[in-house]
Amino acid sequence: MTTLLPTTTAGSLPKPSWLAQPETLWSPWKLEGDELVAGKQDALRLAVKDQRQAGIDILGDGEQTRQHFVTTFIEHLDGVDFEKRETVRIRNRYDASVPTVVGAVSRPKSVFVDDARFLRAQTDQPIKWTLPGPMTMIDTLYDAHYRSREKLAWEFARILNEEARELQAVGVDIIQFDEPAFNVFFNEANDWGIAALERAAEGMTAETAVHICYGYGIKANTDWKKTLGSEWRQYEETFPNLQRSKIDIISLECQNSRVPMDLIELVRGKKVMVGAIDVATDTIETPEQVAETLRNALRFVDADKLLPATNCGMAPLSRDVARGKLQALSAGAEIVRREILG
Ligand SMILES: [Zn+2]
Repeated sequence: MTTLLPTTTAGSLPKPSWLAQPETLWSPWKLEGDELVAGKQDALRLAVKDQRQAGIDILGDGEQTRQHFVTTFIEHLDGVDFEKRETVRIRNRYDASVPTVVGAVSRPKSVFVDDARFLRAQTDQPIKWTLPGPMTMIDTLYDAHYRSREKLAWEFARILNEEARELQAVGVDIIQFDEPAFNVFFNEANDWGIAALERAAEGMTAETAVHICYGYGIKANTDWKKTLGSEWRQYEETFPNLQRSKIDIISLECQNSRVPMDLIELVRGKKVMVGAIDVATDTIETPEQVAETLRNALRFVDADKLLPATNCGMAPLSRDVARGKLQALSAGAEIVRREILG
């Protein structure tokens, strides 16, 4: 990639209203059967068009083919019973009724590879594909089989690696693993979570990224953030080990969050996806606000390693707001590009 400051998104974009209820997480599909398959592809095409029109450099599918960033992947695996549900605490924050691991987990066939091939056919620009990370996956399940969070995480890491290798083979340039759990379970992340993530990324020639955010779209996450005080220093716990890991890109949130920018220094040498777009407000950033966030980040990350991005997925926003934010991201990056190139 030769573009300076290549822009990208964390992952999701709003879905069209004819595909799923807008501005909601877990929204049920409005189509079924062959119509749903075609509808998802049309939505993916529109997501690509919106990104291209806004001038985004590394394109994603806007997660148009999945209902949830973790569950949709798990639904395709054997060993998990979605009828058998137990209530567990998610990321130490809220209780949810979750599916049960009832046997050895495996991936009978690829999950997103057809969708990724479809995305590849839409553009010659670099593409990024998102998968859940192993630690975040285990945190949304009740495990009645392995009875060990670590053991289940390693099994998921193996399965994720199978999927990642196939995604790479159909032309995905960057595989991103979403690991918000790294901001909660520091000890586990450092003991085995980061190692499991490296297992998921093992043997990749595509670049690999890890997205670590504070969570959006549900009240429990908003309430939790209120308890974190004036400085959010959670990244401090895992960044030193991530800096030493084989993961190429670290994705974090910087816009309107209380994360001290200098924590990026802890992953010096890695590429950094700097969240310069707040996904928790309908207010569209000005290009100058985006530029200011990027300038701040440039004090701690070299210009050739900075990827301007969104804080997190934009699924809960309206399509107009999301488009406006993509344009602001692109325009803000362009301001800073010109400053750097003189
Ligand atoms: Zn996120």
